[in-house]
Amino acid sequence: MNSTKNSILTVGSMAFDTIETPSGRAEKVLGGSGNFFSIAASFFSPVQVIGVVGEDFPKEHLNWLSQRQIDVSGVEIVPGKTFHWVGSYNENLNEARTISTALNVFEHFNPKLSAGHKAAKYVFLANIDPVLQNQVLNQMPRPNLVACDSMNFWITSKLDALKETLKKVDILSINEGESAMLSGEKNLLKAAKIIRGMGPSVLVIKRGEYGALLFTESGIFHAPAYPLEMVVDPTGAGDTFAGAFMGYLADSGIDREVAKSDPKLWETTLRKAVLAGCVMASFTVEDFSIQRLVRLTKSELVDRQKAMTQMLTIG
Ligand code: AMP
Repeated sequence: MNSTKNSILTVGSMAFDTIETPSGRAEKVLGGSGNFFSIAASFFSPVQVIGVVGEDFPKEHLNWLSQRQIDVSGVEIVPGKTFHWVGSYNENLNEARTISTALNVFEHFNPKLSAGHKAAKYVFLANIDPVLQNQVLNQMPRPNLVACDSMNFWITSKLDALKETLKKVDILSINEGESAMLSGEKNLLKAAKIIRGMGPSVLVIKRGEYGALLFTESGIFHAPAYPLEMVVDPTGAGDTFAGAFMGYLADSGIDREVAKSDPKLWETTLRKAVLAGCVMASFTVEDFSIQRLVRLTKSELVDRQKAMTQMLTIG
């Protein structure tokens, strides 16, 4: 079962971000859910990414991604401008404020999967138009495990399509504000019950500096955020959480069948994957854009994973 060859197929945004945080401003830097997710997941398993960029997107970045077991053959380069998100954070770094979203080339994107893409056993539908998430999923014969993410923008504008996606996924990861918006319920326990009723048997609610909550058949697990003295830019924390979480699951070979045959192993692995997600996200927020992830080494990651385990150990 344990295989490092389990590849994850993801669809998500490849973007330029303009971000303002209390630490400063970053203009048209590299971002996007598919981008952050792939980089984080690639520390654990091979990734294939589906997306679209305009001719203004730096080819060197795509080359850089492909040097680290990320297959970018599914990233189309088309005439037009790359997706551009402008956002800001105030002192409450847990909540991004969207100033503008220019979908640009994503508006007419029609993802087509190659035979290699369709063979992926693990699928992560990163934060993107749920219509596109569905188009990708509908081309997959029968993946072993499907997870997805979304955000307020899509919950408000494409709720029906998102609910269609949710019927087909095993795991949903969203943040606290989005869980309230999706369920119409602020109380986390009630919200989790409602959302799990929409399809995903596993729900992860990300709570920024307060960590993440995992809701499953077996109960609730609470993982803390890795404590940091300084958060520079929270953008991408959720996507990189998901990248490490999914990468960990793919690397472990855990899937829907294991959930049925060995619920204890499934639960333990999910919990470890949540911790891996929290550790990865803690690196992302230490700098703007993908900069900290680009510098991140495997040994730094392992050291912080050990420190996290130590932090959770009594005696
Ligand atoms: P997060 O992990 O939630 O901080 O995700 C931040 C990333 O999501 C940024 O790099 C943005 O480019 C991207 N993003 C923002 N809005 C959207 C959207 N409506 N659809 C897809 N991606 C988005």
